[in-house]
Amino acid sequence: MSTQKSPQKSPNTNPQFDRVALIGLGLIGSSLSHAIRRGGLAKHIAGHARSERTRAKAVELRLVDSIHADPASAVKDADLVIICSPVGTYAEIGAAIRGSLKPGAILSDVGSVKQAVIRDLGPNVPDGVHFVPGHPIAGTEHSGPESGFATLFDGRWCILTPPPGTDAAATDKMIAFWRACGSQVEVMEAGHHDKTLAITSHLPHLIAYTIVGTVADLEDATQSEVIKFSASGFRDFTRIAASDPVMWRDVFLNNRDAVLEMLGRFAEDLTALQRAIRWGEGDKLEALFTRTRAIRRGIIDAKQA
Ligand code: NAP
Repeated sequence: MSTQKSPQKSPNTNPQFDRVALIGLGLIGSSLSHAIRRGGLAKHIAGHARSERTRAKAVELRLVDSIHADPASAVKDADLVIICSPVGTYAEIGAAIRGSLKPGAILSDVGSVKQAVIRDLGPNVPDGVHFVPGHPIAGTEHSGPESGFATLFDGRWCILTPPPGTDAAATDKMIAFWRACGSQVEVMEAGHHDKTLAITSHLPHLIAYTIVGTVADLEDATQSEVIKFSASGFRDFTRIAASDPVMWRDVFLNNRDAVLEMLGRFAEDLTALQRAIRWGEGDKLEALFTRTRAIRRGIIDAKQA
């Protein structure tokens, strides 16, 4: 076990927790650290990441008060543990930390899928530890400890999916925590979360990966023209398709059913559009594009643009 101290202490203006442990210190873990510091929400932030490089960076950036090479050491005595690594790592991390979780502690996470998280982490939650899974609907295409910032969660939604029977007081504490990090909070059932996110987030990422992948397969001359004239639409897809490959691999493998269902519907709609173009049915195209414009206006009105 290696435990290093980082010089910066939390300002302690409004501590909700004595000790918070962040397992994973990439975009979301480091943003949480900044948001916790900003709000003075913890007296001590303990951190763990897989690589020595990320652990050293986290100390240099003062994301943590103590850094731990061993996740079990990081969660010891923590009254809030938040797992912030790709969801494919959860079963292994759960097994590593289960014996070190403090009775009465809250175990949470930020993973982009929720049923698989409950499947993988749930069996590792000891009696007396409260399990409140979560998912902040906020992010960028950047990764790593340098990419985080305190305002990432401001005005964004955070969805909590406590399994049936979860202690209501623990859920309330997590609602207060995310609000103090700047978020609006909604509590929902994990399966409902996975279906909703399959259409609002997972399918759009899959489409972006597909379009950019198609361009990558074009011959060199066409590819350079696509890049030159990318402002005509392609550019916006490249931002989404630059998102972390490991994180997104794990999202698709762990939300398989909901993504495949939405993909089926999307494929049908695409075929209908293909047909409308082939048969010159301009009224159908115009009617759809008018409806989609209204959705964009709704997002702007809801301040989620
Ligand atoms: P990221 O920037 O790539 O960071 C991932 C972190 O997890 C890194 O610190 C990495 O450590 C650590 N890690 C990887 N494997 C590990 C293991 N086996 N044990 C311990 N630590 C490990 O990823 P992110 O964007 O912050 O995503 C983290 C989580 O947030 C994912 O579950 C994702 O679904 C969720 N999420 C992401 C977004 C988004 O837009 N990015 C939005 C909402 C939720 P090393 O650097 O040492 O490898």
